[in-house]
Amino acid sequence: MAVVTEREYGLFINGEVTEPVDGEVRELTEPATGEPLGKVALAGQRDVDRAVEAARAALEGDWAKTPPTERSRLLHALADAIVANRKELAELETRNVGKAISSVKAELNQAVENFRYYASAIASIAGRSNPMGGSLHFYSLKEPVGVAGQIIPWNYPLMLATWKLSPALAAGCSVVLKPDEATPLSALRLAELAAEVGFPPGVINIVPGGGPTTGAYLVSHPGVDKVAFTGSTTTGAEVMRLASDGIKRLTLELGGKSPNLVFADADLDDAIPSSVWSIYYAAGQSCEARSRVLVERPLYDEFVSRFSDAAGKLKVGDPLEPETQVGSLVSQPHRDRVHGFVEKGREEGAEVVVGGEPVNGKGAFYPPTVIAKVDNAMTVAQEEIFGPVVTVIPFEDEKDAIRIANDVRYGLMATVWTGDPAKGHRLARRIKAGTVGINMPYTAFPGIPFGGYKQSGFGRELGLETLELYLETKSVIVST
Ligand code: NAD
Repeated sequence: MAVVTEREYGLFINGEVTEPVDGEVRELTEPATGEPLGKVALAGQRDVDRAVEAARAALEGDWAKTPPTERSRLLHALADAIVANRKELAELETRNVGKAISSVKAELNQAVENFRYYASAIASIAGRSNPMGGSLHFYSLKEPVGVAGQIIPWNYPLMLATWKLSPALAAGCSVVLKPDEATPLSALRLAELAAEVGFPPGVINIVPGGGPTTGAYLVSHPGVDKVAFTGSTTTGAEVMRLASDGIKRLTLELGGKSPNLVFADADLDDAIPSSVWSIYYAAGQSCEARSRVLVERPLYDEFVSRFSDAAGKLKVGDPLEPETQVGSLVSQPHRDRVHGFVEKGREEGAEVVVGGEPVNGKGAFYPPTVIAKVDNAMTVAQEEIFGPVVTVIPFEDEKDAIRIANDVRYGLMATVWTGDPAKGHRLARRIKAGTVGINMPYTAFPGIPFGGYKQSGFGRELGLETLELYLETKSVIVST
């Protein structure tokens, strides 16, 4: 095997960094500067075969013999390794994805806590037992579902790798994870750290590669028992079709167009900065970005003015600067796509109040953008823009707010701002979304189930429920 240098990143298969057998090597550039970042190996079909074989061998070998207490210790050890290497990981992720390092540091904290949460949650894996009458007695066994094929997008490569890996490993599955071909570096480094802390070879394999090629091949692979996918709704539908052939277990975490509802009785000093954070965090490249702000009519003009003022003051720039609040988008083509939506909004009669033009230069920067005078039927209110662009839509009353909030194909997240607690709870029940926040903007916490209604997918991440999705239940019936 040739030596992989610091600026060349191999595949990670069977406990070691390895060159592709039939894949290719591609040059990566830093989104914020356009400068070369390194060469990355992309997995071909034979590489995916090798990874699945290694995962299967681990599942039937050392990993199967590893007791839950040892799995828990390993998950804690990996959490410790992330803490010990957080500076390197934060820089690697920031350079690869382009977003602000302040965001990446928060994501790293969560990455650590995900492993710690599932290290403890292992204790909850248990079957049950009871007499059935007569001479029969029943007990159940919880067994790992097998080899998990996991696919993640480019927007949170490190954090989402930990969302996927931690429950799978806690349940005793082995994993072949495919990061996006543009952003594989932190997942590769994470796998190296896992090997260093003692995860047996083959338990974690990382195969960066193209979606319709490497990704589709992994989903269809007969050696994969369960597919866990995070990405767009369109790709999710294709993954569902591919997984149906082998009747694979499947979870889908897909897109969103989440509403942020602001009632006239809300505390605006809290609601405005929090609503600004809810869309521009990670430069709007978040599945749960609150990209539709619904505002009660009497408040609308004041809200648009104060929100736009705050958005226009956000510090956009070098993602490695600690004070930067909005870094680069992931690539120039993605920036062009985002700008295309803004242009579409203009064509449809909406008003761009702030931002709305790409920033000149080599990086893929786009300014925080506010689009007002939006009707919920417009493209900018219905389609996931996935950039720092918010649409502000007026509503008349509570009933109208619920109608507009639910009038999209997605249902991932919603936030409600109101001074009336009862109203908050009423809305939480009537909005069709996997998570509803009341008077607080945050979305994903280790231990709290996260996932979609409607076309935002099915299955849950981060919670105890997630463990169940990596386990089979076997019933044993005994004649006593
Ligand atoms: P995408 O669907 O284009 O790609 C996601 C992943 O799927 C990538 O690794 C890609 O290579 C792979 N892929 C593409 N085509 C494939 C195929 N035919 N078979 C198998 N794999 C394939 O999405 P994206 O643009 O990279 O990511 C953004 C999307 O992800 C947004 O829609 C966002 O809302 C969603 N997302 C959802 C969550 C969530 O938890 N619900 C979290 C983050 C991102």
